[in-house]
Amino acid sequence: MKTEETLAPPLGDMDKEEFRRFGHELIDWIADYFEHIEDRPVLAQIEPGDLKAQLPTVPPEKGEAMEQIIADVDRLIVPALTHWSHPSFFAYFATSTSAPGIFGELLSAAFDNKAMLWRTSPASTELEEVTLDWLRQMMGLDAGYTGIIYDTASVSSMHAIAAAREGVELRIREEGMSGRADLPLLRVYVSEQAHSSIEKGVITLGLGQKALRKIPTDAEFRMDVRALEDAIEEDKRNGYVPFCIVATVGTTSTSSIDPVADMIPIGEKHAMWLHVDAAYAGSAAVVPELRHILKGCERADSVAVNPHKWLFTPFDLSVLYCRHLDLLRRAFSLVPEYLRTPEQEKVRSGSDYGVQLGRRFRALKLWMIIRYFGHEGLAARIREHCRLAKLFASWVEESPDWELMAPLPLALVCFRACPTLPTIDAESEVTRNARLDVLNEAIMHGVNATGKALLSHTKLNDKLTLRLSIGNIRTTEKHVRQVWDLLNEQLKLVRQA
Ligand code: PLP
Repeated sequence: MKTEETLAPPLGDMDKEEFRRFGHELIDWIADYFEHIEDRPVLAQIEPGDLKAQLPTVPPEKGEAMEQIIADVDRLIVPALTHWSHPSFFAYFATSTSAPGIFGELLSAAFDNKAMLWRTSPASTELEEVTLDWLRQMMGLDAGYTGIIYDTASVSSMHAIAAAREGVELRIREEGMSGRADLPLLRVYVSEQAHSSIEKGVITLGLGQKALRKIPTDAEFRMDVRALEDAIEEDKRNGYVPFCIVATVGTTSTSSIDPVADMIPIGEKHAMWLHVDAAYAGSAAVVPELRHILKGCERADSVAVNPHKWLFTPFDLSVLYCRHLDLLRRAFSLVPEYLRTPEQEKVRSGSDYGVQLGRRFRALKLWMIIRYFGHEGLAARIREHCRLAKLFASWVEESPDWELMAPLPLALVCFRACPTLPTIDAESEVTRNARLDVLNEAIMHGVNATGKALLSHTKLNDKLTLRLSIGNIRTTEKHVRQVWDLLNEQLKLVRQA
């Protein structure tokens, strides 16, 4: 019910006492949300269009009471959420927010800084430099790298490819790519397991999908370095210009790690930029004994890592570490008169390094997270996720009904059910796999429909593969045991059907 005292005043913002009251109420609401999150289904249990059907199609003419708005969050919005913060969210790459990260977001919304120039937010600009240098040290990257924050890895990698292209000296910034007979086909190389964001980046930059060459992978889903070298040589013979290799450290399907160190000499031989997409796995390098995953990066040109994936940072925050900030700047800096400042030669302004002018104060939440948990605390949590994944994988390996489908370098388990099926006459391996695909898909949907856990899938060597990703700050062994039981219950049900 609307009450007069909580309606917006005729002018200006919410009354300060009400701001305090609702602020406290909302923090309590969030604390309760986390405390009882396991009572909620992980996957939103609604049908497409359900939420829209309950919302007015026209905006309110007059302001509404805050109580009513918060009540509608509970009644309408929460049931339409898939709860990424649920400890049994094991799909895609499991991620999570954290208390210091939420506080950072809250403060950043209050400050509402647009960090386009140093002077429009000295705090954001300088804190970003310091915090990213801390993260660089924690990941064991050398001091030749300078970090810059973007929203997502898709955008970080696109900027890396743009900087690489700027280095080719084809005056693309000035003259573009269209209507030019003098431009050869520029090529970017990724493995077949690379994330689709690289292809999108290539499309966005006007290079065209033709510019992307996908290199086969080995039995462990890592880029085949020999095939990479052959592809580059072949393209050169055809008059193309190979300019960028994108290695993936932690591929999306299996978390496989491309052999960056072996790719480096190839990039160097052909004077190409080597970008490392470590969006998922990069955070794991804060664990000293896992630092080796970034082996080779000491000679790469850029590395993208997403603290919003596995560093307990609320979405969004992606970091691009780059050795050639000058090229990034050359590709993107454009300073109209109204943005000229006396100090511009002495400072770093975020808008010089990307498409965006205004930039959110994202560094604040990362700074608070690193300070609150400390390097050791962050490493301990990631180490525990890897332990839990190995534990789950050991159950898979020990069971005759399940099998692992890929190596387990970190905390993502790729597996499938492989029970003995009643044989169909003259059944080929292909038919057996097709039947296992149907069975595994049914198991996954069965588990997800319980609302008690959420898994996702991929295809590996044409076989439907289930993925269990552990990366949530609240996930414990209890949740991993529970999903294992759920999987086995579903297997039983599906076999009986
Ligand atoms: N690169 C890899 C390896 C990924 O796994 C993902 C997403 O899962 C991305 C890039 C894209 O990340 P973002 O959503 O930050 O653009």
